[in-house]
Amino acid sequence: MSPSVPPLVLTPVLAYVGLGANLGEAAGTVRRAAAELAAVPGVSGLRISPLYGTAPVDSSGPDYVNAVAGLETTLPPLELLAALQAIERRHGRERPYRNAPRTLDLDLLLYGGQAIDLPTLTVPHPRMHERAFVLRPLMDLAPGLALAQGGLAGLLARCADQAIRRLGNL
Ligand code: ADP
Ligand code: MG
Repeated sequence: MSPSVPPLVLTPVLAYVGLGANLGEAAGTVRRAAAELAAVPGVSGLRISPLYGTAPVDSSGPDYVNAVAGLETTLPPLELLAALQAIERRHGRERPYRNAPRTLDLDLLLYGGQAIDLPTLTVPHPRMHERAFVLRPLMDLAPGLALAQGGLAGLLARCADQAIRRLGNL
């Protein structure tokens, strides 16, 4: 008789993804991208923040539409990143030069409490603690969350020079 093998049960990890778009119909792009992310195999329980409008920080072009999604995933971090990049590509993202305006940008902000330092993936996202367009929607989803640099409200107070306005719920 062959020994019984226990089923492999993967504990989902709580991850946060930043969504941003500033070309074309940006709010519609963010909404569709969130729906596509919710449908990725290995992703469940997606919650999306309200949409925010922000002036470009290190980029150019029209205002950005930003949101943050919280989700549970059994995908390892690089597979989740690959899924994000596949969604970006489906939205026709082109990167003619660094920080160029883009149809859709999906960044992996947090992957559980893990610190990841790989050539293609740094988590927590290295600039998230200084970006109002990440901190503000993240606070809607996880008000009590603290990053290594501090709590969200305190970090957001340091971004007072970054104009951000709430556009409405998704
Ligand atoms: P940015 O989002 O900083 O404007 P890109 O979206 O063009 O830049 O990302 C460029 C590269 O950043 C990607 O090819 C990816 O491998 C790498 N990268 C490193 N860390 C992350 C992360 N946390 N989320 C998304 N991409 C990341
Ligand atoms: Mg990106």
